[in-house]
Amino acid sequence: MKYDVNKNGYYGSFGGAYIPEMLYPNIENLKKNYIKIINSPDFQKEFTELLRDYVGRPTPLYFAKRLSEYYNTNIYLKREDLNHTGAHKINNTIGQILLAKRLGKKRIIAETGAGQHGVATATVCALMGIECIVYMGETDMKRQAPNVARMKMLGAEVRPATCGNKTLKDATNEAIRDWINNPVNTHYIIGSVVGPHPYPDIVTMFQSIISYEMKIQMLQKTGKDSPDYIIACVGGGSNAIGAFYHYLENTKVNLIAVEASGLGVNSGKSAATLVLGKPGIIHGSKTILMQNDDGQITEPYSISAGLDYPGVGPIHAYLAETKRVNFKNATDSEAIKAAYQLTRIEGIIPALETAHALAILEKTKFKKNETIVINISGRGDKDMETYIKHLTI
Ligand SMILES: *Cc1c(COP(=O)(O)O)cnc(C)c1O
Repeated sequence: MKYDVNKNGYYGSFGGAYIPEMLYPNIENLKKNYIKIINSPDFQKEFTELLRDYVGRPTPLYFAKRLSEYYNTNIYLKREDLNHTGAHKINNTIGQILLAKRLGKKRIIAETGAGQHGVATATVCALMGIECIVYMGETDMKRQAPNVARMKMLGAEVRPATCGNKTLKDATNEAIRDWINNPVNTHYIIGSVVGPHPYPDIVTMFQSIISYEMKIQMLQKTGKDSPDYIIACVGGGSNAIGAFYHYLENTKVNLIAVEASGLGVNSGKSAATLVLGKPGIIHGSKTILMQNDDGQITEPYSISAGLDYPGVGPIHAYLAETKRVNFKNATDSEAIKAAYQLTRIEGIIPALETAHALAILEKTKFKKNETIVINISGRGDKDMETYIKHLTI
């Protein structure tokens, strides 16, 4: 497919593997084996069974009747929030733990922002009886305390990252440092479609289950396998590419990715990478990222820890450049408002990250006969403290 990674590890001019020499053997080993392992019948059987019986897939495609009436259109919600552990992240961690086992790895490390990827990683490590260390920014440990507790209960060690803004970027730096020091026995489970090739491709393969199911479910519910719009939020971009993947070549489907613009695109407190960024290298790949004129990475900001990242995965940089995906953004307050709206109209409390995708409904005019799928990437339990602080309606 034209949007898949090429044999050199690039999506157009984005991607690649810009890594320290110490990591070459690890990345080479992954590169040489991942497709063969993932496509083997033995892997596929275990992966499919765990997704069904442990994660709870397929997740429902729910017709949101009252929300549809409010916006005078047809809105469906892909319920990734109903997955075990509460977000789409587990699709990827299940896949990667099975890959790590087959590569003979005995120790798992991960980075986490909102804590959802950390929880999903700690969960699969408990499931498989493998040691787990999760790096998390100190700021995020405070704002996502329930997830820190969950990781600890699951038996993972949570190590604080204390540099920079003490958020996701800094946790990722720490995880990469750990991997450099433990290259042989350790597998690094990256939580989004970021990092050096082949990680973005691996995570895309595991998350594409979302749009695979969506096609079947759309056909069952509407008689057509495609909606007019798919909307998803973007931190690194894993839930979005999961929701888009099987529709990338069907250009009749409008794909909308929503970044967090924090206090506003021009406020200096934002994470709207595609508006503010330019090409550069972050965490092992060439992509679009927020940086100053000297190429120093700018500190991002968003109320939602999961979107508080200065880059996007290289596949999204390419999808933006080729205009296949339309990038929009929503502010903190627009997201909070959208979260309350979904909660009061449908009885579903979304994650703060997801709320940014929902905020696009207010800003876009849809026609009465159009169908829209919003990817509900996760549930809001972890964000209750923030929501209650902003209880204004
Ligand atoms: C981590 C997370 C995100 C952002 O990550 P992507 O890789 O962009 O999907 C979005 N929503 C939820 C609920 C998350 O936990």
